[in-house]
Amino acid sequence: MTNEDAKVIPVRVALRCRPLVPKEINEGCQSCLTFVPNEPQVIVGTEKAFTYDYVFDPTSEQEEVFSTAISPLLNGIFKGYHATVLAYGQTGSGKTYSMGGTYTSAQENDPSVGVIPRVIRRIFEEKEKRADSEFCLAVSYLEIYNEDILDLLSSSKDKPAISIREDPKEGIKIVGLTERQVVSAPEMVGCLELGNSARTVGSTAMNAASSRSHAIFTITLEQRRGSDKVDSVVSKLHLVDLAGSERQKKTKAEGDRLKEGISINRGLLCLGNVISALGDESKKNAFVPYRDSKLTRLLQDSLGGNSHTLMIACVSPADSNMEETINTLRYADRARKIKNKPIVNVDPRAAEMNRLKQQVSKTI
Ligand code: ADP
Ligand code: MG
Repeated sequence: MTNEDAKVIPVRVALRCRPLVPKEINEGCQSCLTFVPNEPQVIVGTEKAFTYDYVFDPTSEQEEVFSTAISPLLNGIFKGYHATVLAYGQTGSGKTYSMGGTYTSAQENDPSVGVIPRVIRRIFEEKEKRADSEFCLAVSYLEIYNEDILDLLSSSKDKPAISIREDPKEGIKIVGLTERQVVSAPEMVGCLELGNSARTVGSTAMNAASSRSHAIFTITLEQRRGSDKVDSVVSKLHLVDLAGSERQKKTKAEGDRLKEGISINRGLLCLGNVISALGDESKKNAFVPYRDSKLTRLLQDSLGGNSHTLMIACVSPADSNMEETINTLRYADRARKIKNKPIVNVDPRAAEMNRLKQQVSKTI
């Protein structure tokens, strides 16, 4: 199957509203969002309504988010489709909580654990069920800070330079990034914890860098099926915790810090431009500025390309955050207009083997 005859599947959007946090309650904040029962719809203030693929109100548990919105993507992964989950929203809206970006194995199966540890558990459960297949699993974990790609799984002092290359067959590739092969769920969780702690160190050293950086945890799943194991697929799952989307004026940054903020948020600004270009029907074959930032280059396949993609748009219900919440709701609304064309990703080596085998059987 080629990209031309692939089915068009739009980017799906899940809106997630966290509960009011103690600070907001102490300040006397009220909720400015109303949730329409049994409809994926939210109303801001008294009039503006927005509809998404899924809406999770403040009472929704992590398990519900996982089983409703994430599980279908995992089924696709095992069929050979790429998938991406992007958490978007202002700082403090629940992106890291939703993605599980502070997970430690001490939390084990606590109901509050987020997407990534749940994904890891499910992947290994599914793998166990498929005794007729051979699996090869690998993970990488990176952070984009100030337009630099940092390898969160590399402990060496002199880290190799990381560059982005585009392979005509396999899509975007990151050269120089650690890709760790893993055979068990605890081993993969170990990689998540290692990377999470590398992020936290960054945040104390660079003043809350973690909320100003983008983190991408990637799981690569290679699957060999069939009696002679030539039927192979390779799929990738990107789990992305984006930088806080708040407007600069709110952080009262000036001078160097403002400059830093602009460069850090370049990724988000470009992401917005890419989403606009892809979602605007009137600009059908318009140029899409993927190359304007590292973030959009890395997500090129996830937006308007070969991937099943879900955006989790995170918001605070507090009236004091209403302006940012409306910005997020609008951004998420535009993302729904992006049309992707996911295809089953056959391992190019296995495809070549199959072709040769067929040739041989024809000649004898
Ligand atoms: P972000 O990563 O978007 O900056 P966090 O994920 O760190 O935000 O969340 C901010 C605070 O809100 C944290 O204390 C977190 O535990 C809490 N929180 C976020 N989402 C929820 C939720 N759905 N239920 C309960 N607490 C939440
Ligand atoms: Mg965060």
